[in-house]
Amino acid sequence: MPFDEKDKGTVEPQGSNEGVSGRSIFSSAIQGHRKGLDEASNTADDLTRQTYLDVLNTISEAVYIQDENGTFIDVNEGAARMYKCRREDLIGKNPLDVGIAEKNDYAEVARLSAEVWHTGVPAAFEFWARHFDGGEILKEVIVNKGVYFGRPVLIATARDITERRKAEISRQEREEFYRKLLMNLPDLVIRTDLQGTVVYVNEYSHGSFPQFSKSDVIGRNMLSFIAAEDLEIAIENTRKMFEKPLGPKEYRVVDLEGKVIECEINGDILYDMQQNPTGMVYVLRDISERKKAERELFRSREMLQLILDNIPLYVFWKDLNSVFLGCNNNFAKVCGLSSPDEVIGKTDYDMVWKKEEADFFVSVDQRIIKSGIGEYHIIEPQTRTDGKTSWLDTNKGPLYDSDGKIMGVLGTFLDITDRRMAEEQILQQTRLRELLVEISSTYINIPIESVEAEIARSMNKLSQFVGADRCYIFEYDETTNICSNTHEWCGEGIEPQIDNLQSIELPEEWREAFSHGNPIYIPDVSFLPEGLTKDILEPQQVISLIVLPMIHNNRCIGFMGFDSVRSKHTYSDIEQQLLKVFTQMLVNIRLRKQSEEDLIKAKEKAEESDRLKMAFLANMSHEIRTPMNGILGFAGLLKEANLSGSQREEYIGLIEKSGARMLSVINDIISISKIEAGLMTVNDAEVNVNEQIEYVYSFFKPEAVAKGLALVLNTPLPADAAVVSTDGEKLYAVLSNLVKNAITYSARGVVEIGYRKEPDRLVFFVKDEGIGIPKEKQSMIFERFIQVDNSNTRSYEGAGLGLAIAKAYLDMLGGSISVESDGIKGSTFFFTIPCSNAKAKQAFSQRSEHQQANASHQNLNLLVAEDDEISFRLISKIMEQCCKMILRAKTGREAISVYAEHPEIDVILMDVKMPDMDGYEATRRIRKISKHVIVIAQTAYGLENDYELAIKAGCNDYMAKPIDPTALHAMINSLLEEKKATP
Ligand code: ADP
Repeated sequence: MPFDEKDKGTVEPQGSNEGVSGRSIFSSAIQGHRKGLDEASNTADDLTRQTYLDVLNTISEAVYIQDENGTFIDVNEGAARMYKCRREDLIGKNPLDVGIAEKNDYAEVARLSAEVWHTGVPAAFEFWARHFDGGEILKEVIVNKGVYFGRPVLIATARDITERRKAEISRQEREEFYRKLLMNLPDLVIRTDLQGTVVYVNEYSHGSFPQFSKSDVIGRNMLSFIAAEDLEIAIENTRKMFEKPLGPKEYRVVDLEGKVIECEINGDILYDMQQNPTGMVYVLRDISERKKAERELFRSREMLQLILDNIPLYVFWKDLNSVFLGCNNNFAKVCGLSSPDEVIGKTDYDMVWKKEEADFFVSVDQRIIKSGIGEYHIIEPQTRTDGKTSWLDTNKGPLYDSDGKIMGVLGTFLDITDRRMAEEQILQQTRLRELLVEISSTYINIPIESVEAEIARSMNKLSQFVGADRCYIFEYDETTNICSNTHEWCGEGIEPQIDNLQSIELPEEWREAFSHGNPIYIPDVSFLPEGLTKDILEPQQVISLIVLPMIHNNRCIGFMGFDSVRSKHTYSDIEQQLLKVFTQMLVNIRLRKQSEEDLIKAKEKAEESDRLKMAFLANMSHEIRTPMNGILGFAGLLKEANLSGSQREEYIGLIEKSGARMLSVINDIISISKIEAGLMTVNDAEVNVNEQIEYVYSFFKPEAVAKGLALVLNTPLPADAAVVSTDGEKLYAVLSNLVKNAITYSARGVVEIGYRKEPDRLVFFVKDEGIGIPKEKQSMIFERFIQVDNSNTRSYEGAGLGLAIAKAYLDMLGGSISVESDGIKGSTFFFTIPCSNAKAKQAFSQRSEHQQANASHQNLNLLVAEDDEISFRLISKIMEQCCKMILRAKTGREAISVYAEHPEIDVILMDVKMPDMDGYEATRRIRKISKHVIVIAQTAYGLENDYELAIKAGCNDYMAKPIDPTALHAMINSLLEEKKATP
């Protein structure tokens, strides 16, 4: 700054002092200053001096008044402030005393000062001084020549420029820094004008942009480097940049050779002092390598995550405080998280599982972290998002960082819920199976009387095992659909229900299920629809139940059930199967028990029947001996010579009676034997029931009359409507047996025989007013050898077979028999036979009429083929009245030859059993000679197929021995009529 001449008025320069060394100037200045001060104090102008000083002191800068040698004659307050001292401390001192030698060029300072002294031309220089507290200070000093109270002096003003210098230094450094920075930056720095034209590009030394040489770039538009795909966004971002800083953005940059470089570009706006935008600055960083590395990393991370997500394991890792650092997808899923990232920062206490579970997990973590030892195959439960418990097989080990220090735990686990459930199920099933084996084995040799107690024990054991509160067994009748509770087991505090469950109807759905052998399984009764099942179960407070049918021969004979009253209970398929096995075992036990009971009954019955048979034999012996006795006895008496005619008649009558009685016994025995041997067959034919009743009536009429009994008939159907298809002989046998009994067991009163017609059957009855049958005996009398009075002192004769035979016959005919009696007076026997297509048959009636007719035939030529003399004589006696000739043959062959000799023979009575040749064979041969001769077979066997054999052999009919004269005549009569009718 040029020195202002006006100031010279105050500090006037006083000539020059050329050639003076700096040191001499300063020292002379100091001396001059002292002298001046002395003078001043001695002058009267002190006031003026003070005023002058006051003026100097108002100047903030430091002012030094120096003599020629530079010694401070006076200084203002600014100088004292600059040196952090008092003015007096400086006055008399030389700049050399306060300067920093190594930082100042004193010679130059002295030279400049001398030059000012001599020329009066002010000079400026910088001077490093040390202030009084030791600090350094840089001053900018301007030295002038002036006059100080009449004395030439150097007047120096100094300004502290320490800070300014520092700032200057730092600015320079900064500039240097930026220059170097820009040079060494690996980034390309581009400055553009507001239009985007490049005006500056840094001279990078290590950059990755050798493609962009300065000359190539300057003058081009920044956007021309951006790849076409990113151009739109680049333009948009440039626009946005004016609104707010955007931060780095990634673009593909195309170099001049067309090579694409992946770049991160950070752009910003440059403003002038007035905040007007002047252009843009862009920093381009080549991030190709980073991108590549990122891609690699991403790929490897992705691969790692992929692996973690695809292994069938749950993986997680936690830090030292058991805070999750990461996990795989599986783990995230079980935690209810949508991605593995969400687990980061969470702890087990933030998860769905229970606090105790979290406590356990964390305690294991901490143990591992502390010990550094992993724990493997920890089987533990864990609550899932759906509230269900899963079973885990967990492996946990310490997680090490790259320095080998434990940084947390790494855990993997497998969900073994299914396996564990299967194991538990198998275990449960094994236990149940063992229990069943144990239970079943107890039944193998159990005495029948212990079965009930054992069933109760089994019910208890099974119920306890499956956790049921009540177990029951019902018997069930499929036909009535009625069931009753037979056995019950109740857990403690559970109300027994057995009394409420007698003779109850089975709900339809149960019946349906049981009929197919299926169980009823209701896991939760409250879910049942309204209906009978619910109505039955709810009052019993049943929550769950299972009921299994007991099946025998494809029929449900009962069921066994288990109720859960306290809590819900589910039964696995296998449990159901095993319970089914037990239920079936119950069936077998029941059947065994039943069959053992039946056996006992059968044994008792066999014993009884043995006893009866013994009684029967005794009886039989009586029944046969008695008439035999009569026959032989009276036969012997007949031999006596002096018998009167009436006596003879009487004896003969008694012999006949005894014979008839014996025949009846023998007939019964034969019938029952045939029934027992299964030889009895049914020969259905059109039968007129009215006629049958009438036969019986006429047969028994004389006996009834003789006994003083009235015999009454009741045949409501007209003759032509009273025809049924049945076995007439059997019907007749049944009827005559009942009538015979009615007469036998009645001393007086009426015996009524009749029937009534029902839609598809005829109900016959034989009613008497006799001794009656006690109620308790009524069901027994139809069994063989049973008589109401079995004692030896019986007052009625009979073998006890008649009703048994009647019942067996009626069974064969499809009918039934029963008795009604008050046990005191009278009995009524009812029996039925089916009559589906009853219709009158003309031919039948006609033949019957003929049979009924009296023997109208005369002058017959008869051949009796009979080896037995008595039988021959009997037949001869019966037939003599109507025969003009009776021939006899004793063998079959003889019969053939007699007939051959006497073709005039009308009728042959052929005994089937003869020596030499039997009657059937003889008939066959006679038939070869004549088709017309009437051959009637006579048999003594009384067997069912006699008739068939006879007809087959060619006989016209057959008759059982002993020959009934009436029947024989009727038969011959009928056959002769038939013969006449046939051309
Ligand atoms: P029996 O040959 O002994 O009569 P049944 O089988 O015909 O054999 O009868 C069995 C028993 O039934 C008889 O012994 C008799 O005690 C009783 N009984 C049968 N019919 C009558 C009846 N009408 N009145 C009373 N008791 C009868």
